Amino acid sequence: MLKISDLKVKLEEEDKQILKGVDLEVGAGQVHAIMGPNGSGKSTLSYVLSGRDGYEVTGGSASLEGVDLLDMEPEERAAAGLFLAFQYPVEIPGVGNMTFLRTSYNAQRKARGEDEVSAAEFLKLVREKAKDLKIDAEMLKRPVNVGFSGGEKKRNEILQMAVLEPKMCILDETDSGLDVDAMKLVSDGVNALRSEGRSFLVITHYQRLLDHIVPDVVHIMANGRIVKSGGPELALEVEKNGYADLMDEVQ
Ligand code: ADP
Ligand code: MG
Ligand code: MG
Repeated sequence: MLKISDLKVKLEEEDKQILKGVDLEVGAGQVHAIMGPNGSGKSTLSYVLSGRDGYEVTGGSASLEGVDLLDMEPEERAAAGLFLAFQYPVEIPGVGNMTFLRTSYNAQRKARGEDEVSAAEFLKLVREKAKDLKIDAEMLKRPVNVGFSGGEKKRNEILQMAVLEPKMCILDETDSGLDVDAMKLVSDGVNALRSEGRSFLVITHYQRLLDHIVPDVVHIMANGRIVKSGGPELALEVEKNGYADLMDEVQ
């Protein structure tokens, strides 16, 4: 599904190399987790994959189902099936969340050469998805992200994911405010959306999240590289011993 080879990235504005050769392959239907010390480049990886400005790829490749991602505009990546949670963190007063979500949905359909859906059809679709996920869709009537609580942002994120039906979902749970309730929302949402044709990359420093979303593979990222990969037990090892032991091991 996702194949990243020797990906090297620096900041556009500064001569600072952040990713120093990342290798990662996520198979269809798999859930991979990335853990690692602060500043190791986890968020940078997700930003570069989604096409955010400010980064320069200096080497390597990243593809989705064999198609080069790095050459595409962010919208094209989304249409190809890539989803980055919090790709729309901006508050947009005056624009209803539902309208915004429908615009994204229709933009993706259009990019794939499919017909747009009407407001009424879309409402029906969203209600069904929300019901499946036991999410209250009321917040969709409010302006995009304006005054959303942490929990509402998480609900919104999961609902966006359910509606847009991406193939490759990247969740960067960078938010230190991920409390027990938010963690449950995220893990229930991901588990409900797990399927054969959909893969997840979950970036987290909360081992506990991985008690609920049991990953197929856990990767440890440090200093701009994936330094170790293993099964779910690797997350427990990190929880118990911290990163220091692992770092000694790989150096
Ligand atoms: P992580 O998510 O693993 O904590 P990040 O990807 O956020 O790590 O950051 C990796 C490194 O790159 C850090 O040293 C961070 O300070 C730096 N960095 C990332 N983006 C920027 C930026 N836009 N400007 C300056 N430094 C940045
Ligand atoms: Mg950080
Ligand atoms: Mg981060």
